Amino acid sequence: MKTFCGRANPTTGEMEWVEEDENYDYHQEIARSRYADMLHDKDRNVKYYQGIRAAVSRVKERGEKAVVLDIGTGTGLLSMMAASAGADFCYAIEVFKPMANAAVKIVEKNGFRDKIKVINKHSTEVTVGPDGDMQCRANILVTELFDTELIGEGALPTYEHAHKYLVQEGCEAVPHRATVYVQLVESKRMWSWNKLFPVRVKAEDGEKIIVSPSEMENCPGVPSVCDIQLNQMPSNDFTVLSDVVTMFSVDFSKPVRSASTSYSVQLEPVKSGKAQVVLSWWDIDMDPSGMINCTMAPYWVQSTSAFQWRDHWMQCVYFLPNEQPVLQGEKMYLTACRDEYSLWYNLQKARGEEENKADVRVESPVCRCQAHLLWNRPRFGELNDQNRTHQYIKSLTRVLKPDSVCLCISDGSLLPMLAHYLGAKQVQYFILFFKANNLEDKIKIIEARPESLTSSHLEDKKISVLVGEPFFATSLLPWHNLYFWYARTAVTSHLASSVTVLPQSASLHMMIVEFQDLWRIRSPCGTCEGFDVRTMDDMIKNSLNFRESKEAEPHPLWEYPCKSLSDPLEVLTFDFRKTVPQHCLSTEGSVSLLRKGKSHGAVLWMEYHLTADISVSTGLMQISNEKGNCEWNPHCKQAVYFFSSVIESETLSDLPSAVTYAINFNTKTGEIAMDFKP
Ligand code: SAH
Repeated sequence: MKTFCGRANPTTGEMEWVEEDENYDYHQEIARSRYADMLHDKDRNVKYYQGIRAAVSRVKERGEKAVVLDIGTGTGLLSMMAASAGADFCYAIEVFKPMANAAVKIVEKNGFRDKIKVINKHSTEVTVGPDGDMQCRANILVTELFDTELIGEGALPTYEHAHKYLVQEGCEAVPHRATVYVQLVESKRMWSWNKLFPVRVKAEDGEKIIVSPSEMENCPGVPSVCDIQLNQMPSNDFTVLSDVVTMFSVDFSKPVRSASTSYSVQLEPVKSGKAQVVLSWWDIDMDPSGMINCTMAPYWVQSTSAFQWRDHWMQCVYFLPNEQPVLQGEKMYLTACRDEYSLWYNLQKARGEEENKADVRVESPVCRCQAHLLWNRPRFGELNDQNRTHQYIKSLTRVLKPDSVCLCISDGSLLPMLAHYLGAKQVQYFILFFKANNLEDKIKIIEARPESLTSSHLEDKKISVLVGEPFFATSLLPWHNLYFWYARTAVTSHLASSVTVLPQSASLHMMIVEFQDLWRIRSPCGTCEGFDVRTMDDMIKNSLNFRESKEAEPHPLWEYPCKSLSDPLEVLTFDFRKTVPQHCLSTEGSVSLLRKGKSHGAVLWMEYHLTADISVSTGLMQISNEKGNCEWNPHCKQAVYFFSSVIESETLSDLPSAVTYAINFNTKTGEIAMDFKP
C-alpha cells in the first residue's frame, strides 16, 4: 500500500507530497536500528550468556523446570542462549512485528522451534493460563530493555508489570541488578551545550557584549537526555569535582516500582570549582554475586583492556539547573529524580537531612526561556564557539556599511545582533531574544516565508546585505542548509543590484575514511555466540536497499574516530551570488587512496565561504598527524556514506588505489545522489 505524506523539503523549503510505501517507516527503523551494533557487542553477549547459564543452573539445582520469559527478544538471541543452557521452555516476547517475524525464522533455523515460542505482543498484553500465551508464570526473567539512560526505553514499567503478572515470586533475573553511577564535573565545553555565554563584539564605537536574557540564565532546560560517546571527551575538557558515586540500584529479581521517586547521596567534592554537569553511566550485574559485570564506565574509570566499543549504550551528560560553586571537602547532597522514563539532577549544600529531603523538587525540568526548545545541545555549542563567531564578525565588518539594509536568513541566529552592532542601520530577520539586549526597535522580525516577502515588509527598501550562517533547524544532512540558496533565490526581487551575499558561496567536500569503530553499525554479523543470525543481516541489508539509491546518514564524527585514506576533495560548489540554476550540478572523478587501510565509506561536509578569504567548515577541521587521524567540527553532524563492501588495501601497491565517484545535486529536489566504486 502507498500513502501520500506531506512534508517540507529540508533543502528547497517546498511543501511536497511524497508517495510513501507503508513499509518505509519500519524499513527505516530496521536499517537505522541498533540491532547490528548489539549483536557486535561481544562483551554484552558473552556476559548475558554467562548470566543465563548461571540462572538456569540455579533453577535446575533447586529441582525445578526452567521456564524463561525473554521480554524484547529481538533476534531471539537471549532465548536461544537460555535454550542452549538447558532451559525447558522459553517465551520470547517481541512487540515490533518485523523483528518478531525475524525471531521466528532465526529460532527455527537454529533448531529451537520446540523450545522457544515467539509472541508478537507488548509484554503488558501477554496472558498466562491454560489458554493464554504462556502456560504458566516463568521462573527466569531475561531482558535487555535498556538505553543509555537505563530507563528511557520503559524498562521500569515493563518489569513492574512482569513481576505482577508474568513471573513467579523469587524468580531469577538476568541481569540481576543495574546500578547508576555519577560524577560531578566542571566543564566549560559541556556547559556550553546548555547556556549561552556572553558574545563580545568589537565595534567601531567600542566593545559590545551580547548577553542572554535572565530567563535563560535561570532556566532548568529540557529533560531530554544528552547521551554521548564520553570516551571521546579529552580529559582536559573537564575537571573532576567528585569521586564516582553510586546513585541508585534496581534489583530486577524483586518487584520493581516505576512510580516517580528520588534518590539522594551525600558527597564531598575532591576539588573546589564550579559544579555544572553530572556525568552518569550504569553497569549491570548478570548474577547476584556481581561476578559477571557489564559496565559503561568511561575510560578514566575502567581499565582499557576490558574496553568494549558500543553505540547502543553510551554515557549521559546531565546539566545542573544552575552552575554552583563547590568547596573541596564541603558536604553536598546530590539528588537524582526520576519519572518512569527519565532522570534529572539537583545539587544542594548539605544541611539537616530532613531539610534536604523537604527541598527536593520532583517535577521534571521545563524550559522557561524558549531557547532550549529552539536550540539543541550542539547548536548551543556552535553559537558559543568563539572562533566561529569571530569569523562571522570579521567578514561582517568587511561587508557592512552604515547605510546597509541587512536581511538575515537562518534559524535562531545571533547574526542579526552582530550585524546591528557592527553598524548596519537596519536589520531584518525572519524569526528571539532581542529584548535582553534592547534591540526590539533595531531588528525587525519578519514573520513570513521568503517567497511571500513583500516590499512592505522591507519598508520599500532594497536589501544591500543578505546574510545567513546558514543554519536551519530542519536540516539533517549537511547540504540541507542549502535552503539558504533557495530562500535567496525567492527574495531576489528585493535585492539591490549591488547586493552582497554572505556567505558568497558554499562547497561540498568529500574524503574516504577508515573508521575505528563506527563501521560495526552497518556490518553484517553472521553468527553471534554460535547462533546463526544471518536472517537479521539480510533483513538489515534489504531495508538499507529499500530505496533504490543508498542514502548518506548523519553522524557527529567527533564522537567516532576515523582516519583519512584520501586527501579531502572539493566536489561541488554553490554560488550564492547567483540564483539556484535550473540544471543539476554533477561531478565525477576518482580519488586516490594515500594510506593503507579499510575504506569503510566516504564522509561529506559543507564549507561556507563567507567572503573570498574567510571560510568556515562544518566538517573536517584538520588531519592531526601522519597516521591520518581526523579532527571534526564538534558542533555539526557530517554525512557518512557507507560503502556496500569494504575496500581493503593492505599495502599501497595493492589495487585498488583509487575510488571513483559520481555525485549529483538535483536542484529541483535538493537531493544529492552519489555512487562510489573501487
Ligand atoms: N533481546 C535482544 C534484543 C534487545 S533490543 C538482544 O539482546 O539482542 C530490545 C527489543 O525489545 C526491541 O526489539 C523492542 O522492540 C523490544 N521491546 C521493548 N519493550 C518491550 C515490551 N515491553 N514488550 C515486548 N517487546 C519489547
